[in-house]
Amino acid sequence: GLPPYDDGNIFARILRGEIPAKKVHEDDHALAFHDIAPQAPVHVLVIPKGRYVSVADFAAQASPEEIAGFWRAVAKVAKDLGLEEPGYRVLMNMGAHGGQEVPHYHVHLFGGRPLGRMVP
Ligand code: 5GP
Repeated sequence: GLPPYDDGNIFARILRGEIPAKKVHEDDHALAFHDIAPQAPVHVLVIPKGRYVSVADFAAQASPEEIAGFWRAVAKVAKDLGLEEPGYRVLMNMGAHGGQEVPHYHVHLFGGRPLGRMVP
């Protein structure tokens, strides 16, 4: 499985303001910022503020309020960036086979062009 939460991970450092990020939204439960290596015209990461390594931890440990707040932030960011009507994609990676690199739970929000058929 995944290691326990590491407060030195890059997204924890962004949350603490130790390294900069191009923030697009912040509220009590979530922070959204542009990915440093965008794979689409819009590529934003949305992270919960709590200490969750992955979706497994988030689903098991976060409160209903945190989970609702997180997903409301995802949808709000997409809407505020003008993606709601043309549409967008939300993706998350989990663990080694999923290719997860940063051990703080996050989802990727992609948009700004037709994204094509989803493939692994
Ligand atoms: P994962 O593979 O863990 O789902 O995705 C991690 C994402 O974080 C990658 O798309 C990568 O480009 C992005 N990323 C890694 N380090 C940084 C950083 O320091 N700042 C920002 N804004 N994005 C980062």
